[in-house]
Amino acid sequence: MSQTMRGVVFLEPKKLELRELPIPQIGPDDLLVKVRLATTCGTDLKTYNRGHHEIPKGFVFGHELVGDVVDVGKNVNDFKSGMRVVPHNSAPCGKCYFCKHGQGNLCESIIFNFGAYGEYIRIPGPIVDINTFMIPESCTYEDVALLEPLSTVVHGQRLLKLEQGESAALIGTGPIGLLHLQMVLNGGASNVIAVDISDTRLKVAKELGATHTINARDVDAVEAIKDLTHGLGTDVSIESTGTVAGWQSSLKAARKGGRVLWFGGLKPDDRIDLEVHHIHYNEITIFNTHHSAPLDVHIAFELLTNGRMNTKSLISMEMPLEKVEEALLKMAAGEVVKVAIRPDLS
Ligand SMILES: [Zn+2]
Ligand SMILES: [Zn+2]
Repeated sequence: MSQTMRGVVFLEPKKLELRELPIPQIGPDDLLVKVRLATTCGTDLKTYNRGHHEIPKGFVFGHELVGDVVDVGKNVNDFKSGMRVVPHNSAPCGKCYFCKHGQGNLCESIIFNFGAYGEYIRIPGPIVDINTFMIPESCTYEDVALLEPLSTVVHGQRLLKLEQGESAALIGTGPIGLLHLQMVLNGGASNVIAVDISDTRLKVAKELGATHTINARDVDAVEAIKDLTHGLGTDVSIESTGTVAGWQSSLKAARKGGRVLWFGGLKPDDRIDLEVHHIHYNEITIFNTHHSAPLDVHIAFELLTNGRMNTKSLISMEMPLEKVEEALLKMAAGEVVKVAIRPDLS
């Protein structure tokens, strides 16, 4: 094996560079994984545009991947070279106040891993221990590649507690919105209304089973949602745009007594005007959700490996490492849902 690899380095917002880098060294508890496929994600796009508090500059970019184990640390017993694996991108400490309350997603010492847009990646011991899974023979890499985003969606869904027959508005049908869409359909939602500004994404939403699709560029989305729900609004409304407008629309889309899930994080200095009178007197419940705990990751793995999620429809195309930037711009333009970056294509 050569001692260097190609990897896409995050230098600063809007500046990525494909570089020749040393293959990561592993410690006694780590794995070295050859990346077979890495997927682009809304978080990558946000980081590309504005940086991210968790991602140091100069690191290899990307966090969603599947691959093959090529080296194992001497303390690792559960994995062997040659195994196909899907690692999550984080692991909580298991010891802090939040971990002990089953809220590993809020862990004070959570570690994150980056480097999916490279030929090889080191998977740190804590992630190997808690959040790395062997891919069953019956599954392709594509089947399980969305473990990380699905785990965060599962986390939000567990807060929302959808009931059979409820109606749902999906504000934003990017990769996350389309996973939420499938979760509410699997959970027995009746009227499922998908809202976006990209016809490409709305077409996928329709194919996946959305009852109605609304392009918010053409009509007032909240009015359209009310028209489709006897003037009431939906039982649940799920925001996956990460925009102030999306947060406000999701609040207005929910019926009296309804539940709102704010999924897409805003910028640190963003503020929104809250109609507190409307929220209070109409008993609107708002949930906020961030990342995922080990239980969510486990549930996501079960859903993916049992064929309960359509992930193929979310991967619009494949591109080599050279084109990570182009892939992110295509995502931003709404031309694709997700792009699979495959190092072996270049
Ligand atoms: Zn992601
Ligand atoms: Zn912790």
